[in-house]
Amino acid sequence: MLQKTTFLSHSYAKPDGHTLAAYEASGGYTNARKALGMTRDAVVDEVKKAKIRGRGGAGFDCGTKWTFMPKESKKPCYLVVNADEGEPGTFKDRTIMERNPHAVVEGCIIGCFGIGAHAAYIYVRDELHLSKERLWAAIEEARAKGYLGPKPFGIDYPVEVYVQTGAGAYICGEETALLNSLEGRRGEPRYKPPFPAQVGAFGCPTTVNNLETIAVVPTVIGMGGDAFCRLSSLALFNDGGARLFGVSGHVKTPGVFECAVGLTLRELIYDLGGGILGDKQLLAVIPGGSSCPVMLADEIVNVPGDPRFEPYNGKSVLDLPLGVETFRAVGGMLGTCCAIVLSEDADPVLALHNLMRFYRHESCGQCTPCREGCGWIERILDKLVEGHATMDELDQLHRIASDITGNTICAFGDGAAQPVLSFVRKFRKQFEDYVLTGGKSQTKKLVA
Ligand code: SF4
Repeated sequence: MLQKTTFLSHSYAKPDGHTLAAYEASGGYTNARKALGMTRDAVVDEVKKAKIRGRGGAGFDCGTKWTFMPKESKKPCYLVVNADEGEPGTFKDRTIMERNPHAVVEGCIIGCFGIGAHAAYIYVRDELHLSKERLWAAIEEARAKGYLGPKPFGIDYPVEVYVQTGAGAYICGEETALLNSLEGRRGEPRYKPPFPAQVGAFGCPTTVNNLETIAVVPTVIGMGGDAFCRLSSLALFNDGGARLFGVSGHVKTPGVFECAVGLTLRELIYDLGGGILGDKQLLAVIPGGSSCPVMLADEIVNVPGDPRFEPYNGKSVLDLPLGVETFRAVGGMLGTCCAIVLSEDADPVLALHNLMRFYRHESCGQCTPCREGCGWIERILDKLVEGHATMDELDQLHRIASDITGNTICAFGDGAAQPVLSFVRKFRKQFEDYVLTGGKSQTKKLVA
């Protein structure tokens, strides 16, 4: 069910869509004004009803997360917006910052009010130069108009929004590493508990939300949480509303598209993505950023015992609606909902090698399984693509990735292991071919 929406993307087609004038012309900032006239509990209730699953990858319910913040706090509370978008294949937050930055600022005002904060920090990946410029300009425009500062819209609830730049480390997209970096410390994940809602930025209660999650909050307040939720065909799976879907790799029209939750991979690849480059066959797809297990084009849905899956059982995974719980149930992950498409021309061995060079480089090194495991995996894959690896080393790939899983401080370890486990299992023949022939029978090449 391809149902396009334009809550975040309404201004994408306009060259000046990022300006305050364009944003206000489409009703911008009326929802923040409305929220500040509600009670804090009422704002949180609307966000809970909307069933917004976090758009950063973990998929935790946004409204529920907001309820973890203390009702009364002697310390200041903070909203931190995670815009350290560094997941390979994911470029949706950048699109929002460049083309609709006022939606982020308005979302920050509402988010601060909802969690009892008076300051929001937007942590932006440093390489995203246009994103930073657009956010800085939007904050200045909003402040000049009196929408930020001591009395937004004349209401006695001070809100300030700041942009903090990172330094290009992927691990700073992990929420506690981000908080360390925000405080000027080394960007390493913290042990949890305590969770950020108890001890977050500067030792104070903090909610960390993904940028897209925050940017859609004004729409939720404007149309009401129930109505927003009902846009989705996956409300039964507690997955509401609309979201951005990205598609890249071997498709004709890569990009970011806004649709109701419930879009299928087939619609994303063939309708929005324009189909496979060169009209080739689809080999596989990584559904939501590189940390997700790869799914083969011919995988079938089989989730017995759950009546919600009855309409999908026996069908292709390409026809399963993209949702946090739907993809978890079939052994996949939705992640950031930005799919990387591999055509029949792709070489899955080279694709995994490419990915694991990235993960080895980005491991922060705190945990032995992740630090050493990613290094071992990369070295075995180096040997494999050079044609020197043995069958035993191929089996070691699986053992090392299994040993990383669940044995690390943060989710990076699992995120690095999942591609290895899924690629080696699902493309066993191609991996063995590299051992037996040095990959000589693989005449195909990965187009990055
Ligand atoms: Fe660092 Fe990896 Fe451990 Fe995360 S899992 S804390 S990235 S070493």
